[in-house]
Order: sequence, then structure tokens, then C-alpha cells
Amino acid sequence: MAEMLSDRYAEDIERACEFLRSCDDALVVSHVQPDGDAISSTLVIGWLLDKWNKTYRLVNENGVPGRLRDLPMADQIGSYADEDAPEKKYETVICVDCADYARIGKIANWIAPDARILNIDHHPTNDRYGEAALIRHNAAATAEILYDLLLAAGVELDEQVGTMLYTGLLTDTGGFRYSNTTPHVMSVASELLKLGVEGNTIAERLLETMSMAQLKLIQRGLSRLTFTPDQRIGWLFITPEDMRETGAVNEDLEGLVNYARNVEGVDVGLLFKQIDEQSVKVSMRSSERVDVSAIAQSFGGGGHVRAAGCKVSGALDDIIRQVVERVKQEL
Ligand code: 5GP
Ligand code: MN
Repeated sequence: MAEMLSDRYAEDIERACEFLRSCDDALVVSHVQPDGDAISSTLVIGWLLDKWNKTYRLVNENGVPGRLRDLPMADQIGSYADEDAPEKKYETVICVDCADYARIGKIANWIAPDARILNIDHHPTNDRYGEAALIRHNAAATAEILYDLLLAAGVELDEQVGTMLYTGLLTDTGGFRYSNTTPHVMSVASELLKLGVEGNTIAERLLETMSMAQLKLIQRGLSRLTFTPDQRIGWLFITPEDMRETGAVNEDLEGLVNYARNVEGVDVGLLFKQIDEQSVKVSMRSSERVDVSAIAQSFGGGGHVRAAGCKVSGALDDIIRQVVERVKQEL
């Protein structure tokens, strides 16, 4: 199944393949607090490097979220806290799903200043860092780009890599519902199902199942849902006490912001997660009307038009006020 590829994209894929074919002892890394696409994309690179008998190490700052641990090869991905630092800093690095280099977080400490970097990503805010950049802004997921790369590399796909790719597509399209669910995404998904990938099992695990802690967190979040008088902006917040008292972990926050965003008439939904007294992680979701990636960028973050985020220094109340005011300007 061939897609019409732009010359630039086809060239970038070639260069990325060349980089991967010629690399050895590479560090494959994704962003902090990795999501389904970040983990899947890390694993796909590992799977390919295995095929080519390369040595490599898979890592990200936080490791693999619980619900993604069933993925093939997931036990190979280490976290910054649990892994020993390398004796020698890595000279070759493959960053997947990271809009900017800083998104890899503390893993940067393991990387030589002059390291060769291959940057594979789909975020519109990606600044093309690295020696080679393979970026397609309109790809639904980094996994979608990697599917094209594997085809170009001429390797035969199996159910294992199919499961990884499918997971990236499924999670970054919100279960094949968001506007990034293009005909190409659906045909790739179809090819992956033909490999024997169990789409329903993956969807059940990642989109349907909820931990008790997550449910309790939603209860707390909903009890605080607040709207502007015109009801075009909705937000909620979560404190460190909420996390502690419900037993929730970071992955349990996923989807919470949608309760604000999905209310009829709301243009922008916001989730403020207080990290400590001095910093707050903001998640932004919007209708087609508002570009939240621009808003997130103005606070030092980034992301997509309809889903973006940033980390801001300051007290929770102040940040809520500042961000809501900034969003109002965009309506
Ligand atoms: P989430 O709100 O689910 O954490 O993130 C939504 C989107 O915004 C994701 O595509 C993610 O990559 C991006 N994003 C979230 N936080 C940050 C950040 O601090 N910096 C950048 N550049 N992007 C972010
Ligand atoms: Mn992604």
C-alpha cells in the first residue's frame, strides 16, 4: 500500500534509514511522561535495530506506564531513575515523538554534547533539531511515520511490530476519532490488522479500562470543574494531595482534560496539574476554532493545534488566572 509521498519526505525517510543502518550503540529516547505513541515508537526503532543486528538502548525519563507494559519488548525500555548511567556518554541518539530536544528531560545527561541525533516526530512545533530530521506534521502519530520508514527499509513486518505501530496510531488518534484520522491512517491500521494485530484487545486495555485510582481522580477533578461566564473555557486542577490520596499515577491523568473540553459550547479545556508549590503542568485541548499549540508555545511548551501542553513556574492560582486570560485573548 503506497502513499503519495512528497519528495522531501521520501528523501528524509531515506536519510533516516541511512542513519539507522550505519549506527551502532545508539540511545533511543522519547519524551518525559511518555504516552502510547512515544513508547510504541521507541519499541519500533528497537525492533528494527534488532533486525539489523545493531546494539542499542531504549530509555526515557519515566519508563513505561503500567498499561503499556504488555507491549512486545516493553521490558527493554528503562527509566532514568532505575537505570545506571552509561560509562561513556552516547554519541548516537534517536529521538522519537519529541517536539524539541529538551523534551527528553534528564536523559540529556547521558548524551555527548556533539552527539549525532536523528529526530523523528510529527509535532508541528518540531524545530528540526539534530543531524537528520524526519518530520511529517500532518502524520497522526510518530508511529505512522515509522510505518512509512519500515516500508522504505524493505523489512518484512510481523505481528509484534504491527502491535507497536497500531498502539501508536490508536492512542494518538484517540481511538481513530480525532481529525488526524486520515484515509492513510485507516489503511495503515488495516494493513496492521492483517498481520494479526488484536485491535480490540489493545483498545480495551488502553482506552476502556480504568484503574480505581483513576476513577477517584476523575471524581475529584469533576467536583472542581469551572467555566468562564460564557462557558467557552472550562478547566479543572489536580494537586499533589489528590495524587497521593487517590493513589493515582501520572498516566491516570490521561483523558481528564477532555471532561472540560467535551462540554457543548466549550472551545478550550484546560487541566492544571500542580507538580509542587512552584510549578504546574498545563494540558490544553481545543475545538477547531483555537490553536492551543500557539498558546502553549507562548508559555514555553508546544504540541498540536488541538492538543498542547506546557510546564509553567508559579503558584497554582496565579497560573490558572494567567493561562485562562491568555486563552480568552484567542477566542
Ligand atoms: P498532554 O496534555 O497530553 O501532556 O500533551 C498534549 C500534547 O502537547 C502532546 O502532543 C505533547 O507532546 C505536547 N506537550 C505537552 N507538554 C508539553 C511541553 O511541556 N512541551 C512541549 N513542547 N510539548 C508539550
Ligand atoms: Mn505522538
